Amino acid sequence: MRYRTLNSYLKERFGCKVYKLALDGGMTCPNRDGTLGTRGCIFCSRSGSGDFAVCSGPDITAQLAAARRVVAGKVKQAKYIAYFQSFTNTYAPAYVLEPLYRAAMAPEEVVALSIATRPDCIPDDVLALLCRLNARKPVWIELGLQTIHPASAAYIRRGYDLACYDACVERLRAAGLEVITHMILGLPFETPRMMYETAAYIGKSGVQGIKLQLLHVLRDADLAEEYAAGAFPTLTLEKYAELLAGCIRRLPKDMVIHRLTGDGAKRNLIAPLWSADKKRVLNRIQAYFEQEDVRQGALWSETGLFL
Ligand code: SF4
Repeated sequence: MRYRTLNSYLKERFGCKVYKLALDGGMTCPNRDGTLGTRGCIFCSRSGSGDFAVCSGPDITAQLAAARRVVAGKVKQAKYIAYFQSFTNTYAPAYVLEPLYRAAMAPEEVVALSIATRPDCIPDDVLALLCRLNARKPVWIELGLQTIHPASAAYIRRGYDLACYDACVERLRAAGLEVITHMILGLPFETPRMMYETAAYIGKSGVQGIKLQLLHVLRDADLAEEYAAGAFPTLTLEKYAELLAGCIRRLPKDMVIHRLTGDGAKRNLIAPLWSADKKRVLNRIQAYFEQEDVRQGALWSETGLFL
């Protein structure tokens, strides 16, 4: 295998095909509610970078059932990961979060809980809750780092620094939680070397998984205005495959690659339009990996030196 895919990891761990069910916890985000900002990260859609929950509303059990009905057409018996995706899913008091998480984990077929959040939004009481739940079923925490570079972090209005990410990963790992870091390829003004540095840093940061995502320009994100003004180009498919290859080569062999490209809502996508054809994109990436003999870890350096 050229890289450690999420599917193979899930099969190893749970013994069968596992589907993610996207849930809407009804959260907001400090970059949206006025705490740090009101317009969100520059690339973030109005839905908080989560367009895949089948339905929303306070009843998580009903949301799970609706999401399962969509998958049920594809397969008779499956296991699931309950996935809180949109906005910042630890951004509420622990007593509000606990019933949501417990409802999501309750069905026997749900084998893990995955929670997308940011590293400045996991206070100690929420961490203690996550630990308690992790003793029942695996709890995965997804952190939206996107880049290690301060100028890019300021441009995207991320709202926390790299030291905050490092400290959070240390706390989560000390608590025994599995961590997955999100990285965006193609951020404006980033060079390939900068992207490879981010990948290598994530590889060394002690997390177990990574989601690699293409920068999408979405109609309802502020980035659309900058793009319309010609401030930056988006990536071609060929360039994206090349950059992905460079990142994967710099990740440790045992890191799970949760995603090779993002899933922006097609109706909301301005650029790059080629990314809407996911099947073609994945085929091209696999072909590029074959042609260039791409192997995860080929440029990974335990010493911490960037190759
Ligand atoms: S932290 Fe996440 S949810 Fe909040 S604005 Fe940024 S991308 Fe959107």
